[in-house]
This record gives sequence, C-alpha cells and structure tokens, in this order.
Amino acid sequence: MQIYDTALKQKIELKPLNSNEINIYVCGPTVYDDAHLGHAKSSISFDLLRRVLIALGYRVKFVKNFTDIDDKILAKMQSTNQTLEQITTYYIDRYISDMKALNVLNADIEPKATCYLNSIIDYILKLEQNGATYKLEDGIYFDTSKDEKYLSLSGRKDENLIARVKSNNSKRSEKDFVLWKFDENWYDSPFGKGRPGWHTECVAMISNIFGKTIDIHAGGADLLFPHHENEAAQCRCAYHKELAKHWMHNGFIQVDNEKMSKSLGNSFFIKDALAIAPGEAVRYYLMSSHYRANFNYDIADLLSSKKRLDKIYRLKKRLSGVEASEAKGEFKNSILDALSDDLNISVALAKIDEMVNQANTNLDKEPKNKALKSTIMANLNFIKDTLGILYQDEFEWFQYGFDETQKEKIMNLIKARDEAKLAKDYKKADLIRDELNSLGVAIMDTPNGAKWEKIWTE
Ligand SMILES: [Zn+2]
Repeated sequence: MQIYDTALKQKIELKPLNSNEINIYVCGPTVYDDAHLGHAKSSISFDLLRRVLIALGYRVKFVKNFTDIDDKILAKMQSTNQTLEQITTYYIDRYISDMKALNVLNADIEPKATCYLNSIIDYILKLEQNGATYKLEDGIYFDTSKDEKYLSLSGRKDENLIARVKSNNSKRSEKDFVLWKFDENWYDSPFGKGRPGWHTECVAMISNIFGKTIDIHAGGADLLFPHHENEAAQCRCAYHKELAKHWMHNGFIQVDNEKMSKSLGNSFFIKDALAIAPGEAVRYYLMSSHYRANFNYDIADLLSSKKRLDKIYRLKKRLSGVEASEAKGEFKNSILDALSDDLNISVALAKIDEMVNQANTNLDKEPKNKALKSTIMANLNFIKDTLGILYQDEFEWFQYGFDETQKEKIMNLIKARDEAKLAKDYKKADLIRDELNSLGVAIMDTPNGAKWEKIWTE
C-alpha cells in the first residue's frame, strides 16, 4: 500500500514497523460543541484507510482521542453554568451518534485526556529532566529551541509565518507552548495545581497506549502546525525518537470556496447534513473526492450522492435474498489496487459504477443465473466492508424521508390491504393501494410479502 507522507512530502510504500500490525493514532475532537463537517471528513478518510488496510490483511490498532479539558470547554462551562463532565459527556455522546450515522467504525481505544493525567504529568517530568522546559508565572513551557528538528514536520521556514496567538509575552520564543497551565481549580501535580496543555495529551496517550513509535499519526491538515509539530518535538526531546513513522493529513472543507470556520460563520455541523440526506449519502459524498484535496461542500452535490447510491441499491434490490459467494477476482483486485494507491477513491468509485452497469446488463440477459447473482452479491458485500456503504436493507433505503409515525401509518395500510386480499375483497385492496400512492408510497408484491418504497418525484 502506498500512502502520501506529509512529512516526507511524497508517496511511500507503507511497511509496518511490526510484522503484520499497523498502529494508527488520529487526533479526535475537542468536545465542547457539535461535530462539524471537518470532523466528518477526517473521520471518514481514516476510517477508509483502516478498512482498506484490514481488507489487505493487516492487523490494525486504531486509536482516536477525545480532548475533554481545554480553554473552549472552560469557556462553555462559564457560559452554560454546567460542569466539565456534563459538557464533555453530552458532546462525546453526540459525536458517537454522528459517527454511527456516518458508519465510521469505533476506534479500538478512545482515550479521554482527563483519564490520562498521570501519563501527561510523567511526560512533562521527563521533558523537565531532559532540560526542555521552563517555568513562567502562569505555567510550565516547552522550550522549542531544545529540539533540533523543530519545524521539520510542517516544513515551515520563515518564523514570521507562525501566527502570533494570544499567549504569554515572557516566553523565550513565540514558538514555545504551554505544557501545564497553572490553575487552582484543577488537578494536583508536582508543578502545582493546574491542567494539561493540548499538545502534550496526545503524545502522553500514544506513549501510554502504544509504548513505541507508531506507524501512522493522522488528522486534519489544520493540525499539522502547530499541533503535530509540537507533538513530534516533545517525543524527540523526551525519548530521543520519532513519535510516528508516517504522518497523514486530510484536506479542509470549504463552503463556497472559503475555508469552513466558526469565525467565518460558515461552519456546517454534521447534524445539518444529516437533516438533508441519509448518513450513508453524507459519507459517500465526503468520501467521493480524494482525502487530501480540499472539499467544497455543496448541498446539491450531497443530494446527487444519494442518487448515485440509489443506483447501487437498485441493483442490491434486484438481488434481494440472494446468498453471496466469496468475493474474489478481478473486481475485488481492481478496487484494492485503486485504494492501495493512497486511497484513490475516484478510480474505485468508477470501477464500482462499471461493475453495477455490467451486473445489470448481465442480469437482464440471465435473470435466473444463480452463480452470477451470488458473485454480484459478493461484490456488493465487498464494497460494504471496504467502503462502509451499502450496509442498509435495500427496501428500507428507499423509505428514507418518512418519519416513524408516517411509517407506522403505512404499515397499517399495508396490513389492511393484505387482509382485504386474503378476504378476496380486491376492490378494497385496490382502494388502499390508491391511498398509499397518494401518500407517495409505491407497493411491490414479492414472494416475501408486500414491500414498499417512497415514490421519488423529480
Ligand atoms: Zn493530537
């Protein structure tokens, strides 16, 4: 498998550090608000990476954290009068439910910073021992001049490029960052009461969970500097080794060609997209352009993604009830070849379109060919596992757009129609069918009983 390594600025052949095992750490969300489309893009990109590696036969250990102590969370406590736990528990639950809607697999471990305070404190002590820290009146700071390779990850050269964030003016260098912020309201430590800085939590958790250099450290492109640069620097100064062998970053989400951000007021939440289209369509849409490219979010494009999925689901419906054979051969290889090239999704999706068209043509010719049907079903199952789409019931997929109350009403009408047919009252059965049609529901009689779907009007 080839991946693009951000640090090396080139595609490399991924060779696991330990036999067949790939260890991946992705920086997760700070839980003070609902997750936005940038979080979705990052989660889906590295969920795809994980699924492809598994399909290629690797054992993958996948860790994604929750930052559950941070200035933004403290600000939210002030503005809402809630405790830290109330806020972080609520937004962690919200995040998990968004990820479920997008069919992103749960990480093997989902560490929270506040559960790793001892590891974080130990890490800072180690940095202190190695002479890479200094103390100011408001906290313990990391001395970036102690890391010879500082800025080698992001490749920043001109120090003036480093954005001046509101920070302590007594710092030795503008690049230095806080490891432990003094604050009487928080946790005990050998340095005094306080709370950890963001950049230390990930390195401390990686050190605790993996205990060694990991294969891939990943996250959004906005994390490359300063967050990942600072993480890498701490690991070199604490343990004289690299934090990760490879670094991967996904592109920004743009709305109307402007970078999505809260300050621009164009920050789209995942929940907003989920109100427009099924989670699976949102996933397909965000996955449909290369993970490193900047993504221009557009609602019309989101809705056409639903239609592209409809086409594959129609094929799945033609095969309803068919047992899959084992996925193998040309189709599977063509998808894995495409995705092994730094997740070349455009080629993979084009191969899927081709397969769907060919399958429909072949089924038209040989509608009773069982082996053909089992092979196509196997291909669809392979797509399901590797791309994380097509996992829904093929009939329910076409029922999207009705709420639970409406669905119940429809089910009751179908039941009444079945009873009328059983009593040979075909006139009544037809009247009920007309009523269902007027509600926007199409009925299909199948060997497994009546099935229904929403009638789509263009
Ligand atoms: Zn991180």
